[in-house]
This record gives sequence, structure tokens and C-alpha cells, in this order.
Amino acid sequence: MATEFDELNVLEKNVDAFVENVESIANEPNRAMMRDEIEDDLEDLLIMAYAMGNDYAKRVLGIEDEQADISKMRDIIDEPIDGKTWKDRIREHVDDGDFGLIKTVIQSETDRVYNEAVQQTAEDSGIPNIYKTWVTMHDDRVRDTHDYIEGVSVPLNSRFYTLGGDSALRPMGFSDARNNCGCRCKIRITRK
Ligand SMILES: [Zn+2]
Repeated sequence: MATEFDELNVLEKNVDAFVENVESIANEPNRAMMRDEIEDDLEDLLIMAYAMGNDYAKRVLGIEDEQADISKMRDIIDEPIDGKTWKDRIREHVDDGDFGLIKTVIQSETDRVYNEAVQQTAEDSGIPNIYKTWVTMHDDRVRDTHDYIEGVSVPLNSRFYTLGGDSALRPMGFSDARNNCGCRCKIRITRK
């Protein structure tokens, strides 16, 4: 019997392994090679994040199909957030030699693609009365604006509203960049 977070567990293990590995990649003296290596590895991870979000949504919704729908995967992976794609951010942080920020990009872009795959798969299913719930990491790093919507459930196509009036369809979807950067929140879906 699969538990609700099987897909997330698999994904988090891969994220953790990559984040640890970034330290050794940092010893690569050639910056261009270092960047290529990080980009290749992160691209693989983002494809996995899409597949895990897709698998999770299909399992919860009871959709039995063998093949994942990947027609929107590329657009979702390469979607700019606050004007920058994941590749722009990696390039910037490799140039600055900032491995802390590279790790943040790995974590938050993986979460973003996972969440968007969940939302997209649920939308594409055409199943009525799907709700989504905002879930934080439940630790002291969660910002107040996201703590405010922890556990809140809304219909699939509705937005989550923070106390300050900013809103988002899902984590990383706010208009204020301060509500997006470094976000680790996830969405869960349910059928009502
Ligand atoms: Zn968050």
C-alpha cells in the first residue's frame, strides 16, 4: 500500500544526494564544465520531479495509464520565475561561486516542477471537485505568509491568499518575489 508521500520521498532522496554531490562538483576548476555538469544533473532531477508529481496525482485520482503525459513538461521545467529560468539562476550562482544559492535553486526548482506537475495532471484529468491543500515543511524556517495558509484547501483552479493579499495557484506562483524565493511548500490534492 503506497503512502501519500512515496513519490516525494523518492524525490527528496535524490535532491539530497545531488545537494551533497554539489560540494564535490565545486572542486572542478573549470567553471564552464562545472556549470554544464550541474545543469545536466539538475535537468535530470527536474524531469524526475515532473514524473513524481504526475505519478502522485494519478495515484490519488485513480487514473490508470501507463504513459506519463509529458507534452507540457518542457514548458513547466523552463518556466521563468520572477523573470529567470532555472538555467539563468544556475549560471548566475556558478559565476558568483555561491554554492549555498545553487543548493537553494536545486531544492526550490525541484519542488516547483513537482507542484506544477501535480496541478497540471489534476487539471488535465478533467475530474470534477478536486481540491488542493497547501502544506509547509512545518519548521521554523517557514515564512509567516506561508504558515498562514498551511493546511488551507481550495478548489483546484482557485488561488491561495496570504494575509498580505498576495495570491498564488501553487507554491512559487506569487506575484511578490519574496513569497517565492526558497519556498519548500508542496500541494496535496484530494477528490471531494
Ligand atoms: Zn513556502
